[in-house]
Amino acid sequence: MTRQRALIARILRTAGRHLTAEEIYHLARQSMPSIAVGTIYRNLRLMTECGELRRIETAGGPVHYDANRSPHGHLVCRICGRLEDVAVPFLAPYLSRATGEAEPDYDLSVSWICPACRQREPGKEIPAAP
Ligand SMILES: [Zn+2]
Ligand SMILES: [Zn+2]
Repeated sequence: MTRQRALIARILRTAGRHLTAEEIYHLARQSMPSIAVGTIYRNLRLMTECGELRRIETAGGPVHYDANRSPHGHLVCRICGRLEDVAVPFLAPYLSRATGEAEPDYDLSVSWICPACRQREPGKEIPAAP
């Protein structure tokens, strides 16, 4: 593994959240000021291809990278674009039965308004359950 690739892996692990290539580039420059943005993109592609990272595409938002490879879905804030993990443990067995695949690979994005944005945008509170 190259030094650059190890650095990117460490950045994603320690961030504990989903990062865009741009954010990874800025963080990487703090420890490796000479790193080129092309190097970041090349390594992200390689790491995604070999299953080290997950690439998450959302409608209208930037691509994010995820170091969490266990199966999970994402909540995507439609105001700030922030991504959060959501566990859907019941989904894998269901998809497994439906597809006949032992470990079905799925992509689940749920559009929502995150708690921080909900506070800033009054009137968009989720209505209380009856
Ligand atoms: Zn938000
Ligand atoms: Zn995730």
